[in-house]
Amino acid sequence: MLADGTPITPSYLLSPDSIPATNGLRRGYSLADFQFIRTLGTGTFGRVYLVRYRDTDQFYAMKMLKKVEVVRLKQVEHINSEKSILAEIDFPFIVNLLCTFQDDRNVYMLLEYVVGGELFSHLRRAGRFSNDMTRFYAAEIVLAIEYLHERDIIYRDLKPENLLLDHFGHIKITDFGFAKKVDDRTWTLCGTPEYLAPEIIQSKGHGKPVDWWALGILIFEMLAGYPPFFDDNPFGIYEKILAGKLVFPAHFDVNAKDLIKRLLTADRTKRLGNLKSGSEDIKKHRWFRGVDWNGLLMKGVGAPIVPIVAYAGDARNFEMYPELVDEERGLTGDPFKHFFTDF
Ligand code: ATP
Ligand code: MG
Repeated sequence: MLADGTPITPSYLLSPDSIPATNGLRRGYSLADFQFIRTLGTGTFGRVYLVRYRDTDQFYAMKMLKKVEVVRLKQVEHINSEKSILAEIDFPFIVNLLCTFQDDRNVYMLLEYVVGGELFSHLRRAGRFSNDMTRFYAAEIVLAIEYLHERDIIYRDLKPENLLLDHFGHIKITDFGFAKKVDDRTWTLCGTPEYLAPEIIQSKGHGKPVDWWALGILIFEMLAGYPPFFDDNPFGIYEKILAGKLVFPAHFDVNAKDLIKRLLTADRTKRLGNLKSGSEDIKKHRWFRGVDWNGLLMKGVGAPIVPIVAYAGDARNFEMYPELVDEERGLTGDPFKHFFTDF
């Protein structure tokens, strides 16, 4: 329960009509309102923790970013745009942001807790996914990317680590650290080497088509168990992406191969998703034949993996990470407050 009496509830427990309340980014939370349970994941600038909101005993994921790191790595704009984009969107397959706040050291984003773990862990455990499983995840992701692109948001960080499974096994995209609102193109080099489109590597300016490229990489990786272009170091990966040679394992479905080739088209003016009919061309591709797009949107299609979850704060689906000692203590002053006026 919040100070004004409103309960905060994960969006999947609410009917769509009642969601705006959770997206109202109230001010006034502090760390003391939450009990930290364990680390769910780590990133470049911070960590995501499983926390319990003391007033309601509900569980949330708290993304905590160290201001000093965010500033040092010149990510202030990215973090601010992560917040503003997450605050503006509301979609079944995208993680819901409940509120943000800050203290002298960190900025915090309170997210719904997505219990099923990373698609990455499920994929590594399985080795690879069947054609049908892959199609299910790809289809939910297509709907999410379509939703973002309609709002001129490019996501730019599609990869199995950023795709979580909810209680029922549906996709939830998390990590909007590289998402950006664009009119047309942008020029910042960011993303994960294996998933970068040629135009990003070549600094040509890039836009929405980079997400469709990354979808091609993702579909390949789900079906194969490894990404199409890989190497020990990023430079080697970039060379392979630019060379563009695709080697498909023998078991790949012919339609999957065709879709992947069309998505992994270096010339973005010819890339599927970026042609006259936009994302419709992808949804109408033969590999997706038979997909009930409306049913999917209502989460009406059963998921191929239903995560094992015993209670609301169960974190068994996440890898274990060494916990930090409480280094937040003993800090005075905040040189970076002016960078985060929106929090
Ligand atoms: P990166 O290095 O990928 O940029 P990051 O610092 O931006 O990482 P995120 O990718 O947002 O951080 O989160 C890191 C990890 O924390 C995720 O891969 C996931 O395992 C976990 N995580 C993030 N959000 C949630 C959530 N809402 N519920 C459960 N786990 C989450
Ligand atoms: Mg991430």
